[in-house]
Amino acid sequence: MAKAVSKKGGGKAASSPRAGRAAPQKAAVAISPPDPKRVRAVTRELDRLYPDAACTLDHRDPLQLLVATILSAQCTDERVNLVTPALFQRFPTARDYAGAAAAELEDLIRSTGFFRNKAKSIQGMARALVEKHGGRVPGKLEELVKLPGVGRKTANVVLGDAFGVPGITVDTHVGRVCRRLEFIATEDAVKAEFALMEVIPQSRWTKFSHQVILHGRQVCQARKPACPDCGLSPHCPFGRAQKES
Ligand code: SF4
Repeated sequence: MAKAVSKKGGGKAASSPRAGRAAPQKAAVAISPPDPKRVRAVTRELDRLYPDAACTLDHRDPLQLLVATILSAQCTDERVNLVTPALFQRFPTARDYAGAAAAELEDLIRSTGFFRNKAKSIQGMARALVEKHGGRVPGKLEELVKLPGVGRKTANVVLGDAFGVPGITVDTHVGRVCRRLEFIATEDAVKAEFALMEVIPQSRWTKFSHQVILHGRQVCQARKPACPDCGLSPHCPFGRAQKES
């Protein structure tokens, strides 16, 4: 996910990791900023719990990651990884996707669910890549989010993991865990992304996203967070409240 405009609205050098990140009108942080010491305690614990957290979608280049991320909507990464080897072999370039027969593409991705919509997104995205970017995936957020089927979440995954541009990916797990940690208060993913950019050091953005996604999947689940067994509980308002109740 490339970036271009700082969250303050001022222009940044094109080489800045934030270059290309169009800020919302207002970076809504509805709660007081969390104590930096508590934030550091959380990130230290995340490093201890998930030292090797990384993208779990198999890919070798930005196009593969972009396709895999589109396929991962409403689907597990494990399922996507079962489908992509044959898909990537059959369609190695954006031009291949753009010119594919829809039925063949749909058939290859059928088991990921919502396969007709996903096939349309992949083909629309690939055609835009061919028409506007010479078939290459752009490394800037403002260009990625203009591609059909590509929102900020997908763009941030691609930028962080295929281009090495720091970015915070706010999926359902990151939103939920960070609200319980009271790092953010909003349910709006874009506002949450910009609020977290204020809380988490930039060098940690991509890794923090992977760590929190893992934590949300394994420990801080939506219906039944395992607070008594959670390493973050000493630093988590939600976890402490659970303990006291
Ligand atoms: S203490 Fe509970 S609510 Fe807080 S991060 Fe851990 S599992 Fe989630």
